[in-house]
Amino acid sequence: MNIFKCPFCGKQPETHYYNEEEGHDEFWITGCPDCDLFSGITAASKEISQNDWNALISRFPSIMRVRINDKVEVRESSTLYHYFRVTEIDINAGIFMGTCLKTDELEQFKFEEIVTWPWELE
Ligand SMILES: [Zn+2]
Repeated sequence: MNIFKCPFCGKQPETHYYNEEEGHDEFWITGCPDCDLFSGITAASKEISQNDWNALISRFPSIMRVRINDKVEVRESSTLYHYFRVTEIDINAGIFMGTCLKTDELEQFKFEEIVTWPWELE
């Protein structure tokens, strides 16, 4: 399963299991300790905890989740699609720069031109 990266710092989240205290329920939690962003706790399973995390991160705007060095697929024209490696991001302007993985050319795009996001490619 592809576990989504933290939208704030871009790190891979961690999943932890707790059953330390006597008489307390055992539970799983997934999140980013650096940013203090976590899924709700679940007693079900590790995988369900990670699914909960993915559901949480899915609610963040896609534009917030793209990072430098991510790979995206961009629609350059109605018939032309290319993969780009993101090199610069300007969220306020809604644009980014990327290097074409085929031609190595640097180009500028709007976020609306992305057809496949990094987490859909991994
Ligand atoms: Zn983080």
